[in-house]
Amino acid sequence: MIEIEAVEKSYGPLRVLKGISLRVPEGKVVCVIGPSGSGKSTLLRCVNGLEGYQGGAIRVDGRLVDRGRKAEIRAVRQRVCMVFQRFNLFGHRTALENVTEGPIYALGEPRQQAEAGGRELLARVGLSGKEGTYPAQLSGGQQQRVAIARALAMRPQAVLFDEPTSALDPELVGEVLAVMRDLAREGMTMMVVTHEIAFAREVADHVVFMDHGVVVEEGPPDEVLATPREPRTQEFLRRVL
Ligand code: ADP
Ligand code: MG
Repeated sequence: MIEIEAVEKSYGPLRVLKGISLRVPEGKVVCVIGPSGSGKSTLLRCVNGLEGYQGGAIRVDGRLVDRGRKAEIRAVRQRVCMVFQRFNLFGHRTALENVTEGPIYALGEPRQQAEAGGRELLARVGLSGKEGTYPAQLSGGQQQRVAIARALAMRPQAVLFDEPTSALDPELVGEVLAVMRDLAREGMTMMVVTHEIAFAREVADHVVFMDHGVVVEEGPPDEVLATPREPRTQEFLRRVL
């Protein structure tokens, strides 16, 4: 579903992605771990066209992600939605309005249909009854679940998660991970940047350890997370576990 091939990306003189390659097959969950500053967010932002890249190629469902082609980027963004560390909800819109905005304005769904779908999605993330509530009245965990419902409302083929629980109070992390676990079980294609090693171990089909803009090590979670080969992976896991 997502194919990243030898991608190079610099900010001015700073090389952030140095020939990154990885794949997220349809229906699989790939977790990306690595120290802060290693380029994980940049990589996700390149996948859904929020950032351009200078070398290599990214394809989503066979479609080249090319910032030079606006229509293509729009098509990619509809297929690949992103959930950010900070919930990025529209503050002046209710939970339901946050979820229906995309279907109504980007997909052209009739309002009634979008609202019915939105209620269903809010129920699916455990937020029945919160349709009319504004983000400021929701906990961080609830806001992040609205953000996930909002992403799903676009009927994406894949969802990108950028440290979706790292801005949450510890007691709220579990409820968001539970929603993500259900989504994975239902067969959603997911690329998840996370420091939640236990989650990665349980849910990921494949784990990628990135450092300084390169893939240092990758493989099944049991190998990469339990018996890493590379010293840099070992050291990182010692620090986060
Ligand atoms: P991670 O998500 O792994 O913490 P990032 O992708 O956010 O890493 O950042 C990788 C590197 O790129 C860091 O050195 C960061 O400072 C730099 N960087 C990220 N975004 C920008 C930007 N918009 N302009 C300049 N440098 C950036
Ligand atoms: Mg980041």
